Amino acid sequence: MAQHEQVILITGGSRGIGAATARLAARAGWRVGINYHQNKAAATQVVTEIEAAGGRAVAVQADVSQEADVLRMFDTVTDALGPLTALVNNAGILETQCRVRDLDAERLQRIFATNVTGSFLCAREAVRRMSTLSGGSGGGIVNVSSGASKHGAPNEYVDYAASKGAVDVLTLGLSKEVAAEGIRVNAVRPGLIYTEIHASGGEPGRVDRLGPQVPMQRGGQPEEVARVILWLLSEDASYVTGMLVDVAGGR
Ligand code: NAP
Repeated sequence: MAQHEQVILITGGSRGIGAATARLAARAGWRVGINYHQNKAAATQVVTEIEAAGGRAVAVQADVSQEADVLRMFDTVTDALGPLTALVNNAGILETQCRVRDLDAERLQRIFATNVTGSFLCAREAVRRMSTLSGGSGGGIVNVSSGASKHGAPNEYVDYAASKGAVDVLTLGLSKEVAAEGIRVNAVRPGLIYTEIHASGGEPGRVDRLGPQVPMQRGGQPEEVARVILWLLSEDASYVTGMLVDVAGGR
């Protein structure tokens, strides 16, 4: 199938890494489903940019942790753009930096609901629709994990790091389950990337503080992650599955 006939759904496509991936995907000829949770204006802006450049995109509100929302989101994207051939499981959250001794159950539930349950539900729906076993034409999934799953994010957000550990294992297990069904499943593990997520942790300047400690001595741009995501979904990565690709400047 030519790239211009293919449809990609990017969860959390309204801002940050997801928005960069949406813009780059559209430039490469994908039709792009852009999911957002609350920031409709940001999602609409990405759609407008893509359409102005001659591409096709649709914005879809959904909370990825809610099963009914996920089902509606996949149906909306398919109805608007055609059968799905790729999913980027990118939506993710963290909360204010704190130690494990100060965590409570409600916060743990919020973090795991979005980062883990959301990733599982979206991966399940993508598999059901893309698998050659159910009449699909195959496809690709890229999960957006984090370097935090390697270093554990001590004193900041071990809960978030643990949720990304689950995303890594989802990638490893699912990739083997669906390898013979035409679906490749990989993950990227970004390091310190300039997005608004660090403000959610209470430290908007975190990348500037820690960037100099990275072997490459700087933080990364969302586009530098987006390029790897799109490479993993491309034919150039046709024999790559079950891989966790660090995009972290050597960290
Ligand atoms: P961001 O700028 O804060 O954007 C987060 C995106 O996720 C937004 O589009 C947001 O939608 C969406 N989202 C949040 N909760 C959602 C939900 N329940 N349902 C649907 N969408 C939801 O974050 P980012 O830095 O680009 O992060 C993207 C991914 O990269 C995350 O999985 C994050 O863990 C991972 N990551 C980031 C870094 C980094 O340094 N930035 C490093 C490692 C991994 P709204 O716009 O509607 O709020």
